[in-house]
Amino acid sequence: MSRNLLLGLVALAALHPSPGSAAGDGQVVAPGVAEAQAFIDEAEAQLAQARELWNRTLWVKQNFITFDTDLLAANATENYNNLIVGLLGRAKAYDGMDLPGELARKLELLKRQIDVPPPDDPAKSAELARLTTELDSMYGQGEYCQDGKCRDLEELSELMRSSRNEAALLDAWTGWHSIAPPMKDKYVRMVTIANEGARDLGFADVGSFWQSRYDMPPADFVAETDRLWNEVKPLYQALHCHVRAKLGEAYGTDVVPPAGPIPAHLLGNMWAQEWGNIYDLVAPEDADQGYDLTEILEARKFDAEGIVRTAEGFFTSLGFSPLPETFWQRSLLTKPEDREVVCHASAWDLDDQEDLRIKMCVRINEEDFRTAHHELGHNFYFRAYKDQPLLFRDGANDGFHEAIGDTIALSITPEYLVRIGLLDQAPDASRDTGLLLRQALDGVAFLPFGLLVDRWRWQVFSGEAGPTEYNATWWQLREDYQGIKAPVARPPDAFDPGAKYHIPGNVPYMRYFLARILQYQFHQAACAQAGFEGPLHRCSIYDDKEVGQGLQAMLAMGASRPWPEVLQAFTGTDRLDATALLAYFAPLKTWLDEQNRDRQCGW
Ligand SMILES: [Zn+2]
Repeated sequence: MSRNLLLGLVALAALHPSPGSAAGDGQVVAPGVAEAQAFIDEAEAQLAQARELWNRTLWVKQNFITFDTDLLAANATENYNNLIVGLLGRAKAYDGMDLPGELARKLELLKRQIDVPPPDDPAKSAELARLTTELDSMYGQGEYCQDGKCRDLEELSELMRSSRNEAALLDAWTGWHSIAPPMKDKYVRMVTIANEGARDLGFADVGSFWQSRYDMPPADFVAETDRLWNEVKPLYQALHCHVRAKLGEAYGTDVVPPAGPIPAHLLGNMWAQEWGNIYDLVAPEDADQGYDLTEILEARKFDAEGIVRTAEGFFTSLGFSPLPETFWQRSLLTKPEDREVVCHASAWDLDDQEDLRIKMCVRINEEDFRTAHHELGHNFYFRAYKDQPLLFRDGANDGFHEAIGDTIALSITPEYLVRIGLLDQAPDASRDTGLLLRQALDGVAFLPFGLLVDRWRWQVFSGEAGPTEYNATWWQLREDYQGIKAPVARPPDAFDPGAKYHIPGNVPYMRYFLARILQYQFHQAACAQAGFEGPLHRCSIYDDKEVGQGLQAMLAMGASRPWPEVLQAFTGTDRLDATALLAYFAPLKTWLDEQNRDRQCGW
């Protein structure tokens, strides 16, 4: 009884906070602060419980896709979303209050717990959960059927990767994009409801809600991404110019005009987002990189576990503790034959403590060798910050989380492969152009795509692009940023953004752009700490315990401090900076400029 009365009084006080209500002398805590603290303590306890249940439900669904697990997952997501939205509603009572730093930050971080916020209306909240689950499943079940034969994304991607037959590529590209039009009405409705949810939380729309999660005003964040893009644009344009010329040689300049955008179906990837698969078409004369990691892995009879154990070995060489035994017992590493699973690789932390896992259908090749390092980067990050309070158990921002494993993957140099006995001798510097070009075709080619996906979504959520303009806006952005065009005129009902998982899946995308910049910043800083003096692409931090200690310290901070401080702790600078990426690829840029000397670049 008296407890209720007290809370009632405290709640009243919270509406009239005094300017100096922060706990100053450690004796008297102003009522507003005490109530905010009690609220956050309760929120963290509720979230801890709800998150574990939600994680375990999603794990089961993704490992056993059935009608029932889909239903259970939608239900669990609705419950979890409602919990967070309820907490966010209550948190509004503390807006503008002068709170101690840690408390203020936790209130801010509550907003990072949800991507698609439901409105304060049970019917709409349920409709939103249904729509997001349906969109996700429609994508997952997408197939291109023709003459009674159906192909899924894995088959079509394999064709995009390996075929050099223009007609077959075009067929696979248009076929996959035909899965998206049925999603459009649901997507439009989802946008409307989620925007209502964002407005209930005090944001103009979902786009500005997403932009608000980077410890700076949303407009400043948008400007930062523009600044970074302008820094890397000359390198991208040089790569684009060379690739376009080589594709023109391969397919003819009537298919690939020498001065215009490149048709989207010729770059070895369904979304033309990474181009490493067409290395053979654009490689220099002495293309041989000196070794082929896929062949080595096959010859050494690596299996899925062997690949993941090798990736773990990199982290333990830096001083991280080995993964718990349960990781090996509970992870999914090979595609099961007797049931449907979500093969898209992901890293998990089911109880926010030691129950770490990955779910990945590992294939024995170089790409998956690198992906294993990427996923374990998430796992070691999870564990590094597990002793933080719940709301601080997160990456400094979402780009950091994506960047850690990729930073380690940059250390998979020939010299590293020699050290772990996979290679007898590292190729000399004459092989560097091939090595760097192969890497740029993925890492540099990705940058404008990483930027434009959310540029599109920001316009969609703000209403700047209405439903009838969705597709035209998508292609305008792809042309402006990537210099890529649709290979054929698009039908009126086309919804081409829906053919990329993160749109129907509602996964924010800017994190991948940030990560591709950050990983080079981390790599450069780590190599400097290691005292490495050669070219950055030959630096590996393998077995460097001191660098590992600094890395671990950064990861252990979790989201407890604004990301610029976390960045500063490891790199000595508090700004995102593309110069590390440019330094890494500088020798390649020189080579590309020579190749492009007599070509007209740009589109
Ligand atoms: Zn990731």
